[in-house]
Amino acid sequence: MTPRSWKLVCLDCAREHAGLEVRYRCDCGGTLDVVHDLEALRGGIDFATFDRRLVSKEPANRSGVWRFRELILPVDAEAIATRGEGNTGLYESKAVASYVGLSRVQLKHEGENPTGSFKDRGMCVGITVAGLLGKRRVACASTGNTSASMASYAAGRGLEAIVFIPEGKIAFGKLSQALAYGAKTIQIEGDFDDAMRLVQQVCDHADIYLLNSINPFRIEGQKAIGFELLQDRDWQVPDWIVLPGGNLGNNSALSKGLMELKALGLIEKLPRIAVIQAHGANPLYRAFSSGEPLQPLEGVETIATAIRIGNPVSGKKSLRGLAACHGVVEEVTDDEILEAKAVVDAAGIGAEPASCATVAGMRKLAASGVIDRGADVCGILTGHLLKDPDTVVRYHRGELGEPSSKRRNTLIQVEPSLEAILAALD
Ligand SMILES: *Cc1c(COP(=O)(O)O)cnc(C)c1O
Ligand SMILES: [Zn+2]
Repeated sequence: MTPRSWKLVCLDCAREHAGLEVRYRCDCGGTLDVVHDLEALRGGIDFATFDRRLVSKEPANRSGVWRFRELILPVDAEAIATRGEGNTGLYESKAVASYVGLSRVQLKHEGENPTGSFKDRGMCVGITVAGLLGKRRVACASTGNTSASMASYAAGRGLEAIVFIPEGKIAFGKLSQALAYGAKTIQIEGDFDDAMRLVQQVCDHADIYLLNSINPFRIEGQKAIGFELLQDRDWQVPDWIVLPGGNLGNNSALSKGLMELKALGLIEKLPRIAVIQAHGANPLYRAFSSGEPLQPLEGVETIATAIRIGNPVSGKKSLRGLAACHGVVEEVTDDEILEAKAVVDAAGIGAEPASCATVAGMRKLAASGVIDRGADVCGILTGHLLKDPDTVVRYHRGELGEPSSKRRNTLIQVEPSLEAILAALD
């Protein structure tokens, strides 16, 4: 094996650990960061190299994660797990811009990843590391998308996947994937936070590699959302990047990646970051607006199940990124999420509820003047429309009450006759 050029460093006590070992926390309990040797990278990597790889036929170059491998995890090509993740669309929608009250908005649709969410970007790295460590079994607790992604990537590598999901509140598209890809799927009587606590205990007791976003390698892969977004824009840094926050791994990853680009002198400024939480699951919002330390919340509730998390594992990393990127945290109600979703869906883009917190949050931040009307704003749509078909159908049937009254697209029932159909079309 090649020598490892990265280290694992504790966020709390700064203690350094070897780059490749089964470890999710420091001995002091702190979460870990992958720290690259930026000194060695400086001058050795540039945007032209990443652009050249865009036309390559090599699987690693075609992946929207491994294309940036020097900044993600420099491992041998044979070790890499990939399904060609990333390479997601960047959309500009007049309808969405006008809804949020900005002159222009770009939306990076991470729902276009192989399993339909951004989780694939972190998972291809997590599964790669599981392989390097010689692990045969991998596990995660999940509100759905992590399990779908892990199940797929594990199956591709012949690893056994074990998934812990909270009772009830998992969207059907995601549960279907975990079962279909063959993961051993265990439903816990409890919420996501209970499932998360238990999976950590199980992995500590059995020889199973934990692939939740407490695993620092997942965060490395997710940094590529920011890299690819900049590449899509010919390396122009936007004023703002807006994204939802649940377990807070994704925004931590985004800011970490951008901070590294800046440290390497590849970009001159950092964008500002806006993390959007659901009002019913808003521990980061509370901490950010009060200036108090992040307190876990019990009994969190939101229709956006992917961000229905009260005790986020990456709270500290998230706050560090927000500080560096002069970020803000906003909260939105379920009604605001559903209305924004109806707009995103009807624009022909479509995304799952948690993703649309992004758009609802943009609208709120534009209305309050935090984001200037003319600012250059990018939003991340985190998951695919079909992840949660139940919510869509219930919305358009009017079963979700008030929020669906305005933008409802009612299913039309007609008798099988020409007259009845023509009458219905009028
Ligand atoms: C996981 C997920 C989120 C939340 O991301 P965190 O890293 O947990 O903050 C948001 N939207 C979707 C669709 C997700 O799958
Ligand atoms: Zn420590």
